[in-house]
Amino acid sequence: MALFKKKNYIRINPNRETDLSSQKKPAVPDNMWAKCPCCKRTLYTKDMGIEKVCPYCEYSFRIGAWERLSLTIDEKSFKEWDTDTETEDPLEFPGYLDKIKQMQAKTELHEAVLTGKAAIDGQAIAIGVMDANFIMGSMGTVVGEKITRLFERAIEKRLPVIIFTASGGARMQEGIFSLMQMAKISGAVKRHSKAGLLYITVLTDPTTGGVTASFAMEGDIILAEPQSLIGFAGRRVIEQTIRQELPEDFQKAEFLLEHGFVDKIVPRNQLRETLGKLVRIHTMEGWK
Ligand SMILES: [Zn+2]
Repeated sequence: MALFKKKNYIRINPNRETDLSSQKKPAVPDNMWAKCPCCKRTLYTKDMGIEKVCPYCEYSFRIGAWERLSLTIDEKSFKEWDTDTETEDPLEFPGYLDKIKQMQAKTELHEAVLTGKAAIDGQAIAIGVMDANFIMGSMGTVVGEKITRLFERAIEKRLPVIIFTASGGARMQEGIFSLMQMAKISGAVKRHSKAGLLYITVLTDPTTGGVTASFAMEGDIILAEPQSLIGFAGRRVIEQTIRQELPEDFQKAEFLLEHGFVDKIVPRNQLRETLGKLVRIHTMEGWK
């Protein structure tokens, strides 16, 4: 009976490897598809637009600092500051300085933050943009120093500061020196504030650890991109400490807005306009 007849299995060619190597692989261009880490859908990258936003859930994909600048500021208005600072290796952490060199080549950045002067909608600003591609945007001594100097120069030139945060937190390869940056930057933020100047932070995916615990949350106005992960310690650490299960959307920008940590969630394609307006309102003659 056919029902019990043994199946004819496909025979595997013993020379399969050599056969495969001689075959031409189908030509699928790189980066044609992407998976949204938030809603898990597969996306055709062209549908994400130049802003790289998921059309289904509005998750804004991680972008590099240079890309961020081109989406945000007036064309050719950027003048970079402080590229002469050199990362040191205070703990003699194995392979650390080699890693820095690799990252510099890969990202075309000097360190995990890009700082300088720029214009937004024709108005001068001091801007800092962190890049999660550079050792997870972690904050070492150079990042701390560059951000501190950003505020100091902004005070001197009486400029508002805008910072885009993206960070895994303090840089473990620099230990305590990394943690000290939190206090150093916070001091500079306070001096800038006392001078009556505006500071806006834009929290992007991911903003965590020591960056959240310092300058990310010290803005006069705190904006965030939709669906961004924003928090201090990781979810598992908190769950194990308080012995409670946390809600599904815990540490998402929307959850933080609901609980008063964020002033507004702004989709990426509206950020340039929103920032331009905020700077205009707060630097108007006769306002101060
Ligand atoms: Zn999505």
